[in-house]
Amino acid sequence: MSKSVAKKIQAIRGMNDLLPSDSPRWQFFEEKVRQLMQRYGFAEIRMPIVEQTALFARSIGEVTDIVEKEMYTFEDRNGDSLTLRPEGTASCVRAAMEHGLLYNQTQRLWYQGPMFRHERPQKGRYRQFHQVGVEAYGFEGPDIDAEVILLSARLWQELGLMEHVTLELNSLGSSEARAAYRDKLVAYFEQHREMLDEDSQRRLTSNPLRILDSKNPAMAEMLDNAPRLMDNLDEPSQAHFEQLKTMLDAAGIAYVINPRLVRGLDYYSRTVFEWTTTALGSQGTVCAGGRYDGLVEQLGGKPTPGVGFAMGIERLILLLETLDLVPDEALGGCDVYLLPMDDTATIAAMTLAEQLRSELPWLRMQLHCGGGSFKSRMKKADKSGAPFALLLGEDEIAEQAITLKALRDDQAQQRIPQSALAHTLSEQLTHSQ
Ligand code: ATP
Ligand code: MG
Repeated sequence: MSKSVAKKIQAIRGMNDLLPSDSPRWQFFEEKVRQLMQRYGFAEIRMPIVEQTALFARSIGEVTDIVEKEMYTFEDRNGDSLTLRPEGTASCVRAAMEHGLLYNQTQRLWYQGPMFRHERPQKGRYRQFHQVGVEAYGFEGPDIDAEVILLSARLWQELGLMEHVTLELNSLGSSEARAAYRDKLVAYFEQHREMLDEDSQRRLTSNPLRILDSKNPAMAEMLDNAPRLMDNLDEPSQAHFEQLKTMLDAAGIAYVINPRLVRGLDYYSRTVFEWTTTALGSQGTVCAGGRYDGLVEQLGGKPTPGVGFAMGIERLILLLETLDLVPDEALGGCDVYLLPMDDTATIAAMTLAEQLRSELPWLRMQLHCGGGSFKSRMKKADKSGAPFALLLGEDEIAEQAITLKALRDDQAQQRIPQSALAHTLSEQLTHSQ
């Protein structure tokens, strides 16, 4: 029989494993988010990862990058066209409509989870990535726009990121105003056709507003002189935007108006914003959102205003890491390593461990498992990173005592009665409680 070496199967390009050394950072971030949402009165919603393809085609827009070339779309066994969600807003609207959450009521919702886009993987850009999203339904005025921006700002403040991010703001006006503006813009671009790059030529007929988004330096001056959406807003959108700015000013939130901020998805109207950073190279947008008053109706519901944002968790974690902003305590670890000195002490050690876990719910303790020589047990204790080892052998068991050994400094080891152990650990490990 020939023995062939099986080829190892690897993860799909652009889809990452989250390793144990990284997960404390994610948990730190996720915990902050969860608390923040509660504090602002947003309730969590969880949607499926797969939806009918039509949901995204109809909401995001047929001629956007996402729908044109980034979606993971496949036929399931029934022949239905399904898509791994590239973003959360469409699913959230679908779910809210389907369960009557938009009927005569307002909603403040949030979610988090993986999104899928077939992009070119690079730092800060992956094919499976994760977002935290916030969506509010049924609020027409700019107060909720300000509220979701304030929520995001508080997160930056609490993470120590505020001085590293900038809020960029624009208004896209009503869809009517935008249609009129679009004509003006196309006329302008036609006058400067020779300056448009290939991408922009293509967008001229399909999605001319997106040309404003271009980062091509050769087009920068021409784009700067293009007619501005801001100067072509309808009166109610103008008023909405002015009020929003007044609210942000009152809250002390700094922003810059970016008249070229148009966002890549079709469903936005009025307010759009992005939080950007210069610390991550070209993948600098960490949070993006805006108002989408037409979307619910577009998906077959009663007209319902909506506003929301999505933040990219990978980029934020990268930023926290780059700036070294995750506190050491949050990086997890182990307080004590409890080891039976040989196999005869296994059950006594296990019993003691369980008793300690009942008494000290905050204690992070690893019980030695897997046998081995005393020397190899001590090696594992050291590797656990714990500041203390608890040693249990024949003598300790006979005396109902335990040996407490400091692993990171040369404090003398001490034998203490098991009845005093919880108290001693509480004193020695004040930081963990
Ligand atoms: P970009 O301009 O960077 O492509 P986008 O406009 O496509 O971003 P949105 O659809 O608004 O992004 O998603 C909101 C946020 O999700 C982004 O600001 C970013 O932080 C994050 N994000 C988007 N695509 C990716 C990706 N492929 N990998 C990692 N994070 C992403
Ligand atoms: Mg994109």
